[in-house]
Amino acid sequence: MTICILGIGHIGGSIAIDLKERGFADHIIGVDARQENLDKAIRRRLIDTDATLAEALAKADVIVVSVPVSAMMTLLPELLDRVDRQVVIEVGSTKARLLEPVRNHPKRGRLVATHPMAGTEYSGPEAAIPRLFDGKCAVFCDTEHSDPDAVEVANQLYEALGMRVVHLGADEHDMHAAYVSHISHISSFALALTVLAKEKDSNQIFELASTGFSSTVRLAKSSPEMWSPIFEQNRDNVLDVLDEYISTLSNFRTLLIKKDFKKFHQMMEDANQIGKIIQ
Ligand code: NAP
Repeated sequence: MTICILGIGHIGGSIAIDLKERGFADHIIGVDARQENLDKAIRRRLIDTDATLAEALAKADVIVVSVPVSAMMTLLPELLDRVDRQVVIEVGSTKARLLEPVRNHPKRGRLVATHPMAGTEYSGPEAAIPRLFDGKCAVFCDTEHSDPDAVEVANQLYEALGMRVVHLGADEHDMHAAYVSHISHISSFALALTVLAKEKDSNQIFELASTGFSSTVRLAKSSPEMWSPIFEQNRDNVLDVLDEYISTLSNFRTLLIKKDFKKFHQMMEDANQIGKIIQ
């Protein structure tokens, strides 16, 4: 199968590696906004060739769209205008707003909306790694609007990536993504800003940073180009969870002011319950 990866960054590049290694793809064509990214992708053997979108569309069976969700808003309808037999699989981190521009497109059926729930804080083709998706979950959204053969191809592709598929409506996906993914990024960005504002000596941060601090601020290294359109598109859900988060922080603060360490201890014990869900 010939696969076109449109946006050969962290996710697109990581998909390319495993699809090639596991024999799902015979040939991988890279398309990207920047030639520099394509050159890096060829040097790293993520792709076999680079091409323009028109050239790639003439040859590819499947187009995996892995550009930031802001760029997808214009790219998805353009792609559907131009595809015929091909399957378009988008991997964006949002769904409801993202899918609005294609909702009534006559070729909406060729598109499968998916979200592989895996990733790191790094971006670009240099951040592409093998086995990123193994054992993780891929969310398929609103598959009733996709052609059955297109969904079948997407199922096979994610199976080759070693992922479990779950099905959700776009609104449901966005609500859950706000809770399990988007708020963690905001809280990490906020923690990094707080420590940078309070601790002016960057040497001290570097020397004293414990593994706890490093793992909690890890996501603050994530790309604003990728994350800012996600927060914009999922604004209502993110605001909802942010209000809850601020209220919890405020509870901790009040208990400290009141020196109510018994309740503080109780809140931490309640928080420990997360360990029963995530080891
Ligand atoms: P990334 O590393 O920045 O890769 C995106 C690539 O697309 C970059 O090479 C970028 O080039 C290129 N690009 C941007 N606009 C383009 C356009 N209009 N046409 C062609 N190429 C374009 O980002 P990523 O982390 O792989 O994320 C890609 C998608 O996966 C996003 O939709 C994101 O929501 C989704 N996703 C991300 C994660 C995660 O944890 N990172 C997980 C699941 C899903 P530049 O160098 O010019 O920016």
